[in-house]
Amino acid sequence: MRISESQILELKNNRDLKDPELAALIDTDEFDGLLFKTADDVRREHYGDEVYIRGLIEFTNCCKNNCYYCGIRRDNRNLERYRLTKDEILECCREGYGLGFRTFVLQGGEDPWYTDEIVCDIVGAIRKAYPDCAITLSIGEKPRESYQAFFDAGANRYLLRHETASEEHYRKLHPGSMSLENRKRCLFDLKEIGYQVGSGFMVGSPWQTTENLVADLRFLQKLSPDMIGIGPYLTHEDTPFRDMENGSFKLTLRMVAILRLMFPYALIPSTTALGTIDPMGREMGLRAGANVVMPNLSPVGVRKLYKLYENKICTGDEAAQCIECLKRRVEFAGYRIVTSVGNVKR
Ligand code: SAH
Repeated sequence: MRISESQILELKNNRDLKDPELAALIDTDEFDGLLFKTADDVRREHYGDEVYIRGLIEFTNCCKNNCYYCGIRRDNRNLERYRLTKDEILECCREGYGLGFRTFVLQGGEDPWYTDEIVCDIVGAIRKAYPDCAITLSIGEKPRESYQAFFDAGANRYLLRHETASEEHYRKLHPGSMSLENRKRCLFDLKEIGYQVGSGFMVGSPWQTTENLVADLRFLQKLSPDMIGIGPYLTHEDTPFRDMENGSFKLTLRMVAILRLMFPYALIPSTTALGTIDPMGREMGLRAGANVVMPNLSPVGVRKLYKLYENKICTGDEAAQCIECLKRRVEFAGYRIVTSVGNVKR
């Protein structure tokens, strides 16, 4: 089907288009200029020129899962594994707080070593030391009771990308021990408990079709998340997908812009994967509608080990260097980093 500029206005005004129109918009770069400009207008209406920062603490690269695309999958024997102690995590927070961070994101593989009790102990300690900060967890699929316990201990946001909303595509990316149904269950449980929830997907993951991307947008409409994280799929030599091609940079930017128009209020990070696939990726992501950046607060000694994909950026710098570099980049793109807990503006 052919679309025109009027569909972009319609997407802006109605926050929606019909499936074939969305598909056509995803498939063409003809309107990228207008699309990105319109997305930027909408982001400025809702968030001005503010960019929120989240301090990412990658606290374990051990994982019991075996996702075919991911570099820290269980069966990758070519990787030195690490776990941060509670004290090391608290030290990351202390440094981050001094640098202006008011959100800490604890991300890791699905690592049973961190029992619910241990997670609650860590979350509780951060909550006690930093009552004015948001605590975000990104530690995968858990029973509802565990999510409730983390919430009661003081966690208030959770990131869990659905990865792909199509059953058929999900099966091509994950082993039989995992299920899309459970992942979706987790997301709705998290919302019901009261977390601010983030979801999202990789762009250009192996065998992804335009219809799959439309299904991802439809799923997000149902979930109505506060945060939406996307990035290009990037290959990793020690996974079954080692011969697969990276996702497309331009398509990822287009998806960021489409997300901004469909979810004007959303917190959308300009991701590390976007900065990895192109040296100006994060700047371009901001200009296409993203309003969050997530610099790394992990100890420099372990950064190279949290390797989800090849050539990951920012693995050599201290946290203070990272934030300085990002400040410059954000300003260059035409925005401004703010020290604020950065809640969603619904
Ligand atoms: N174990 C947690 C955190 C996963 S890592 C969880 O299950 O949510 C965070 C995200 O990195 C994943 O959700 C996935 O979308 C992304 N990721 C993993 N491997 C990747 C790759 N090869 N290229 C790009 N993104 C990848």
